[in-house]
Amino acid sequence: MSTPQGRPGQPVLPALLGLGQRGLGQRGLAPYGADRRRRTLPAGVLRLPTIGIDIGGTKVIAGVVDGEGRIVESLRTETPHKSKSPKVVEDVIVELVLELADRHDVHAVGIGAAGWVDADRSRVLFAPHLNWRGEPLRDALTERLKFPVVVENDANAAAWAEWRFGAGRGEDLLAMITLGTGIGGAVVRHGYVDRGRYGLAGEFGHMQVVPAGHRCPCGNRGCWEQYSSGNALVREARELAAGESPVAEPLLARAGGDVMAITGPLVTEAARDGDPMAVELLHDIGTWLGVGLANLAAALDPGRFVIGGGVSAAGDLLLAPAQDAFRRTLTGRGFRPEAEIVHAALGNEAGLIGAADLARAVARRFRTVKRSRVER
Ligand SMILES: [Zn+2]
Repeated sequence: MSTPQGRPGQPVLPALLGLGQRGLGQRGLAPYGADRRRRTLPAGVLRLPTIGIDIGGTKVIAGVVDGEGRIVESLRTETPHKSKSPKVVEDVIVELVLELADRHDVHAVGIGAAGWVDADRSRVLFAPHLNWRGEPLRDALTERLKFPVVVENDANAAAWAEWRFGAGRGEDLLAMITLGTGIGGAVVRHGYVDRGRYGLAGEFGHMQVVPAGHRCPCGNRGCWEQYSSGNALVREARELAAGESPVAEPLLARAGGDVMAITGPLVTEAARDGDPMAVELLHDIGTWLGVGLANLAAALDPGRFVIGGGVSAAGDLLLAPAQDAFRRTLTGRGFRPEAEIVHAALGNEAGLIGAADLARAVARRFRTVKRSRVER
């Protein structure tokens, strides 16, 4: 892609926006997250509705998002099986976009994908749930849709949404941790998403916390997400139940006697009802969360950690032990300010909202798409 700034690997906003170097808050303009330098968008562009798409392991959700981060309308469908070709996934995206564009005056599309997105946000290098290996997604979709398209890692998109509209507002150095089946991570620094040199920053879930620990699908052992994630919670709960431990009896009864029916939400529900074993399991996950956050604080020194994802629904059953472990493990404790650890505010929709908002940076006042030119 063209890089007028002459620095490789950096996304470039269209010159037509005439982006300046103004700082936060000037004349009510907000900074924008696509680039290392602080950028602002004209107030009119900030209000344009855009489409955000969240492509996860099981479902694809598309939504029209307004300038305040509100979802005006959303559609969902199943994620095509990973055996399907990239074209099939593109078809799904195109259908969703065209359906929404029929009813809304939208100006750009942002894709938040579970996978590695390269530094100029055009290719998906690898996606665990899809048949994307070096897939030139942005250019393929731009070509078919005739819309400006932005592709972003889903954790980055969620962190951006929390920074813009949620629990990260006003924080100059924010780290977000998404506890789902694994751990998603992202950093928003001085009003931009810190993607790293190759677009791969924030893979905190694969920091090794236990030498020779549990095997991880990434190929290594002892990764953080093997100890603090939905999968870790379920693995531990099932192991106890399968071992016919008496402490797991209430949990097993709740799952109808079927070990495999024990899920993360079921453990959380049991903990909320006061089941001591379920409380203990979440306490362990929270403790590992706090240890990992202390490691991240040593590296990044953020002002705030925002904790999202399905497991964070456990609330203080997770965050209270995380805060304790964080304080106990933090380097320089007692002699330094401590980062806040807070719940995410935007729930499951953060990825979609963030992707749509990042797309605003490339939105343009759009003439109506010529449907006949769009190859479905
Ligand atoms: Zn790993």
